[in-house]
Amino acid sequence: MTAIDTLPPLREVIATHQLSARKSLGQNFLLDLNLTAKIARQAGDLSHCDVLEIGPGPGGLTRGLLAEGARRVLAVEKDGRCIPALAEIADAYPNRLQVIEGDALEVNPLEHLTPPIRVAANLPYNIGTELLVRWLTPKQWPPFWQSLTLMFQREVAERIVALPGTKKYGRLALLAQWRAEPNIVLSLPPGAFTPPPKVSSAVVHLTALPEPRFPADAGTLNKVVAAAFNQRRKMLRSALKSVSPDIEDHLKEAGIPPTERAEQVSLEGFCALARSLEPQI
Ligand code: SAM
Repeated sequence: MTAIDTLPPLREVIATHQLSARKSLGQNFLLDLNLTAKIARQAGDLSHCDVLEIGPGPGGLTRGLLAEGARRVLAVEKDGRCIPALAEIADAYPNRLQVIEGDALEVNPLEHLTPPIRVAANLPYNIGTELLVRWLTPKQWPPFWQSLTLMFQREVAERIVALPGTKKYGRLALLAQWRAEPNIVLSLPPGAFTPPPKVSSAVVHLTALPEPRFPADAGTLNKVVAAAFNQRRKMLRSALKSVSPDIEDHLKEAGIPPTERAEQVSLEGFCALARSLEPQI
């Protein structure tokens, strides 16, 4: 019998610890352990890795990650009501689960993790994009993580993998595709969660590339892309005027027609533009 079998079903855990879902914390729980194991498998070979999990809640995915062989899991949870439920899992998997009660936007989990590190989470919808952008934009590359396996609203997942010329293409796609390889690996209907959210969800797996696909300074690229997509309907020469008065020259140097809109410009084009603008901004 594995440890996972000795733990009570998640519905029982929720009843025992009175974990009624709170909307303000983005709580849509996964209670099917077959499904959480399937998500954990998408994270790759965990046996030699520490796994950072944000928002473990009652611990469905945490149990999946441990049962799939994670060397250690570090779980950061804001809701103090979940801590006793997570302590039961820690008891069932001695020395393999550490829980930090805190806000994932504020705690620094790195001091508790040993490389190689993977990140896996059914993220609270209200901080998911912010965390992803933070993980994608460190100054140094490669980052602390080898891979990110993250649940998002389907719409956000589609923005992460979007290609140029499509409506969903924007800052998130460019940041994700510049230094990582993102793929949608699972789609989940609202009914997979308790309570069900209004929209469908998807799991995105991102593998960190050893180096960026094209050279550019992260801060400059981030600024240029944010400005370009802030006014995505405008031609780039107008949308980026505030970034540089000589924007037409920089666009020319990057090989981008000044009348192009942000949506049409490839990752390679934006990186060339960031290189041209870097000494100036
Ligand atoms: N992983 C659990 C599952 O799959 O059933 C719960 C997922 S639920 C979508 C999101 C979880 O993130 C909740 O447990 C919530 O309390 C937690 N959470 C919300 N905001 C947080 C924050 N700022 N830092 C850490 N955890 C947070």
